[in-house]
Amino acid sequence: QKLKKSKEPQPQLTMKDIPAPHVIKEKLDAYVIGQEKAKKVMAVAVYNHYKRAFLGKEGSDSDDIVIEKSNILMIGPTGSGKTYLVKTLAKLLDVPLAIADATSLTEAGYIGDDIESVVSKLLAAAGNDVERAQKGIIFIDEIDKIAKKKQTNTRDVSGESVQQELLKLLEGSTVEVPVGSNQKNAMTPMATVNTDNILFICGGAFPDLEGIIKERLAKKSAMGFGAVLKDSFDHDPDILSHVTNEDLRTFGMIPEFLGRLPITVTLKGLDKDMMIRILQEPKNAILRQYEKLLALDEVKLVFEEDALEWIAEEAIRRGTGARALRAILEEFMLDIMYEIPKDPNIGSVVVTRPYLEKNGGPLVQMRG
Ligand code: ADP
Repeated sequence: QKLKKSKEPQPQLTMKDIPAPHVIKEKLDAYVIGQEKAKKVMAVAVYNHYKRAFLGKEGSDSDDIVIEKSNILMIGPTGSGKTYLVKTLAKLLDVPLAIADATSLTEAGYIGDDIESVVSKLLAAAGNDVERAQKGIIFIDEIDKIAKKKQTNTRDVSGESVQQELLKLLEGSTVEVPVGSNQKNAMTPMATVNTDNILFICGGAFPDLEGIIKERLAKKSAMGFGAVLKDSFDHDPDILSHVTNEDLRTFGMIPEFLGRLPITVTLKGLDKDMMIRILQEPKNAILRQYEKLLALDEVKLVFEEDALEWIAEEAIRRGTGARALRAILEEFMLDIMYEIPKDPNIGSVVVTRPYLEKNGGPLVQMRG
C-alpha cells in the first residue's frame, strides 16, 4: 500500500548540519545546568554517531575499518535531566525523537507494546518520512526496570527477554512497522525502517546501583586499607561515575545488552546550588517565565535570595529532582497570579522566605 507522506518533505540531514562537539556542548549549556561530563560525553558520542551514519553502509568506507555504533546508556537519579538532555539534543540537531518507556514494552505475543513500537513512534515523529526517521534518536526510559530479577523462584523472565529482543534493534536491523499506528493489522500500511543509523539512548535511575558500586569498591580496597576508603565512598556524591559493566551486570542487565550500549553517561543528583541555577539560568527558566507573565501586567516580580534557597531545599526534600521546582512554584504563585491583576496600582511583588514558609504575604509595592 502507498504511504501517506507528510506534505513538505524536510530536506535530508547531512554531516554539515551536525555541529562540532564543542558547539553541541555550548548549545546544551544554554538549557541544561551542570552535568558537565555528561554533556561532553553526549556531544562527542552524538557527533561520532552521525559521522558514522553519513559514512554510509554500516559505518565503513573503502578501507576495512568499521566504526561501531555508539548507542548510549544514561544513568542518573530521577529528575536530574536525562530526558531533558536528550530532548534538547534532538531539538538542536533537528532530528526526530521518540521517547518510549521500557516498562510498557513486552515480548512479542504478550499484552503491551511490542519492541518495534518504538520505531513506529520515531517514524511518526519524523512525519512518516522513513529517511528522516532512520537518522533519528530513540530514547528508552526506565531501562533499569527491565533488569533480570534476582530471586528466580518465581519464573519472571520478562525483563530479561525484553532486553534480548532489544538487541537486534540496538545493533541495527530492518523492521517492518505500521505507519500511523502502533497496532499491526491487515489495514495499516507498513513501512520498512532500518535502525542501523538510529541513535539509541537508554536511560534509567538504577536505584541500588550505588550500593553495588560501593560494595565492589570496598571489596577491592579491603585487600589494602579498607575501612578508611569505604567511608569516603559513602560520602562521594558522584559515586555513580565509577560504574562498570560488572556493576550493571550485577544489577541485572545482560552482557549482550550492555555490549550494544558502549557509551555510559552518568548524571549527578542535583544539589541546592544546581537547583537555584535551574530556577534562574536556563533559556526559558521557570522564574523567567513567571517574570514575563507578570511583566505583561507591568508588574515586576522579584525573588529574594533566601526565598530561592527555600525553594531549592524544598525541591530536594521532595526527592523528584528538578521536576519538583515547577510544582513548588505553581503552588505559591497561584495566589500571586490571582491577586495581582486585581489592582492596577501594584508595581512590584517580592517573594520572600516568610511567604514561602507561610509566615506572611509577599511584599507588594505600589507604583511610584
Ligand atoms: P529525568 O532525569 O528523570 O529524565 P527530566 O530530564 O525529565 O528528568 O527532568 C525533569 C525536568 O527538570 C526537566 O524537564 C527540566 O525542566 C528540569 N531539569 C532537570 N535537570 C535539569 C538540569 N540539569 N538543567 C536544567 N533543567 C533541568
